[in-house]
Amino acid sequence: MSDAVLHLRDAGRTYPGTPPVESLRGVDLTVHAGELVAVVGPSGSGKTTLLNLAAGLDRPTSGSVRLAGRAVAELSDRQLSGLRAHALGVVFQQFFLMDSLTSVDNVANGLLYRGVPAARRRRAAAEALDRVGLAHRAGHPAGKLSGGERQRVAIARAIVGRPALVLADEPTGNLDSANGAQILTLLRDLNADGVTLLVITHDPTVAAACPRRVELRDGRVVADSERTP
Ligand code: ADP
Ligand code: MG
Repeated sequence: MSDAVLHLRDAGRTYPGTPPVESLRGVDLTVHAGELVAVVGPSGSGKTTLLNLAAGLDRPTSGSVRLAGRAVAELSDRQLSGLRAHALGVVFQQFFLMDSLTSVDNVANGLLYRGVPAARRRRAAAEALDRVGLAHRAGHPAGKLSGGERQRVAIARAIVGRPALVLADEPTGNLDSANGAQILTLLRDLNADGVTLLVITHDPTVAAACPRRVELRDGRVVADSERTP
């Protein structure tokens, strides 16, 4: 379908070794604009491998990945970096903020590879911080924020460029349950506002709150609550 933002077709990723590790096998997954999808599965089932393929950080060893309508296999590394900068936002369990920079500068850095002038980067960053409820922390160094606040800054950085798809790998994994619940509410609010999200999670509460759940086991999709062609 034309509004597919992510399309994996028979995608596999095998790591060389003796024996080789088939981390993903024959994965078919399509995410359409506007969806909020949880990917669940036990440790070692291939969730992070799937995220790396979806994020264009890695390429499949079989099958194909299309991101925002572009076939990843047909892009040079430089073209792929450009596509990632424009089409994707990524949120990690460990936040990956620059502790010495302010919140607003961390978020503005989400636009660094787009050639947006500095003043416009900061303005967009201030708006994104407001959207995640952190306008009052704009000038704080990220290293002085609480875990929940840091993840909000990371989410603001992911959405600042209005990407076609936001990927999150265990976004509540480093948070206590109260902060995790707030992040979950934020992700759902952003989705209600039109942000398309694929969330990898161990947390049953997060998975249950997502309208669509995809389950991985041994590198295969074993369940998809709303399989789309
Ligand atoms: P999950 O995120 O669900 O815990 P991963 O995608 O990290 O699972 O890993 C899936 C499988 O692939 C595991 O068996 C893991 O050991 C293997 N794997 C992941 N990355 C590599 C790598 N770089 N080299 C070799 N094997 C890997
Ligand atoms: Mg993982």
